[in-house]
Amino acid sequence: MTDMGGFHDHVARVDLGDESVAYEGIDDEDARKYIGARGLGVKYVFDNGVDVDPLGPDNLIAFMNGPLTGTQVTMSGRIAVCTKSPIEGQVTDSHHGGWSGARLKWAGFDGLLFEGRAEDPVYAYVEDGEVELRDASHLWGWGVHDTVAELEEECDGEYGKNLSTMAIGPGGEEQVRYACIVNEDDRASGRGGTGAVLGSKNVKAVVVKATTDMPRPADQETFQEGHKQAMQLIQESDVTGPNEGGLSLYGTNVLMNLTEEMDGLPAKNGRYSSTRSMADSEGADVEADRVGGETVRENILVDEPTCHSCPVACKKEVEVQTHHKGEEMNVRMESFEYESAWALGPNSGHTNLEDSVVMVDRCNDLGIDTIDAGNTLAMAMEMTEEGKFDHLDDGVDWGDSEAMIELLDRIAHRDDELADHLAGGPSHLESEFDAEENSLAVKGQTMAAYDPRCMKGMAIGYATSNRGACHLRGYTPAAEILGIPEQVDPHDPEGKGELCATFQDLHAISDSFDICKFNAFAEGIEEYVLQYNGMTGRDVTEEELMEAGERVYNLERYYNNLAGFDGADDDLPGRFVEGHEDAIPAQGGSEGQLAELDQLKAEYYEVRDWVDGVVPDEKLDDLGIDIGPGTGVSTGDSSAPADD
Ligand code: SF4
Repeated sequence: MTDMGGFHDHVARVDLGDESVAYEGIDDEDARKYIGARGLGVKYVFDNGVDVDPLGPDNLIAFMNGPLTGTQVTMSGRIAVCTKSPIEGQVTDSHHGGWSGARLKWAGFDGLLFEGRAEDPVYAYVEDGEVELRDASHLWGWGVHDTVAELEEECDGEYGKNLSTMAIGPGGEEQVRYACIVNEDDRASGRGGTGAVLGSKNVKAVVVKATTDMPRPADQETFQEGHKQAMQLIQESDVTGPNEGGLSLYGTNVLMNLTEEMDGLPAKNGRYSSTRSMADSEGADVEADRVGGETVRENILVDEPTCHSCPVACKKEVEVQTHHKGEEMNVRMESFEYESAWALGPNSGHTNLEDSVVMVDRCNDLGIDTIDAGNTLAMAMEMTEEGKFDHLDDGVDWGDSEAMIELLDRIAHRDDELADHLAGGPSHLESEFDAEENSLAVKGQTMAAYDPRCMKGMAIGYATSNRGACHLRGYTPAAEILGIPEQVDPHDPEGKGELCATFQDLHAISDSFDICKFNAFAEGIEEYVLQYNGMTGRDVTEEELMEAGERVYNLERYYNNLAGFDGADDDLPGRFVEGHEDAIPAQGGSEGQLAELDQLKAEYYEVRDWVDGVVPDEKLDDLGIDIGPGTGVSTGDSSAPADD
């Protein structure tokens, strides 16, 4: 039990097998050690045991908010979904914005834990401190958009007012390895295959109706001091400043032209590091600007929605009229994000804006991750070129955006043999088709829109991310592109291990609060501490809070170690390390650059006190992670007496 501010001390444990719901408090020591949301969610997954089948009834999936979610803290509408990933069995946490995290708090909960498997499809209805399982048979097979609309009506609520619906689409039902959970139409907990886990449990959706008010800070004065400081920094920032900063004006897609200019935008499955290089080398008709934030703002922007308590409003709602298979289409959607636009655009060998918007919208409706879907299609294009699908008499050609739109639907429904293989994701393709060299995945999850040859912090970030390649575990592009907190040379490997570990720990804190990590473009650990102490009534120092972030990161790594991962899994796609005949950038500032993986890993492991990717027992002790059997690995410099 905890009486800390920011918590309701109320978690629902839902056994889907017998459709029972039990309510429990939160262990106070865990809440202090692991903060909330991501940290506590991972702890629940850890306590559930490492040796479970991710898609079996024994896996646990946790929907968690944190002590700052749903408060006056800026950008605090987020929720963490934590589980054992079906991608390769690592622990994963995936977050989305909007209002569902805040509404879960306002419905009286810190978290929902789902165990077992329902016999028939259900959805969970959450209101006023209680969870009810309801029949969802009529929704099975439906896309996310229709599901959300239907549940709003059935539950007598409205998204804009009091209701949030987190749903899976056909992708989750069919257990596509990179299926996601989509909140409120277009905001996805995209990474890690959380949608497949929910689908394996026969849970179509979680609906939250909010009734109570925002939690009040335990120490109002300290909280307001932190909040005031944070607001001022957000308003003054060139990145987050409302209606003036790059993120506020153009959304995350402000990065498309920035990375293109610095030769850090992977194109054509990472063969090139800019669309310019691809165009010059192949005469291809591609240009990053056509799908970039500036073009979007000028041509197809229709609204700028935001998340709970966010003055930045980075969401860019767009509308396009286009044709598909000879038929007219009108698509309106939120969240045409940079990484989605990249994976389904330049990295797949085209820069058709309208088709890219359609693809992102299809992914959201089908409930599959845009980044993994795009990268899997790019991998399939390279494999098609190499004849690896010839025996199927099928495939997809570079930049064929019409075919991509069609394939997304086929994948989500596992319609045919090729689609079924692609639904298995890069790990499946690597082993089934001897296609490791075609994959942009690390630990089975694919990288994002930052070229690891150009950005060495991102290189070590992809390699060491606990949930698989990911830009958001440690967002070093803040320093490597945007100069936050200070500009670093992206090509220089020196110091990038430490930079990466620091960002990873900092984001583990914000993900555990749970607030949007874009806060970190403006504010720092000082504002985090003031707002956390003010809300909870604690009195932690900056060092103690950073150590809590480090503890969360190490708990995840410890989980992965027990699941069989070690330093050999902290890898990068070969083309970024050794080069590839088609992979060296043809021109530009990144020409000749490769990721110095061994050097980066050596520095990173030294900073982390890890032994070849494994958390040694001494480190677990130092961080107070005293659970489980330990890893059996030691740094060798322990002063503990040896056995005699
Ligand atoms: S910055 Fe963007 S993603 Fe973050 S809370 Fe604001 S609108 Fe949501």
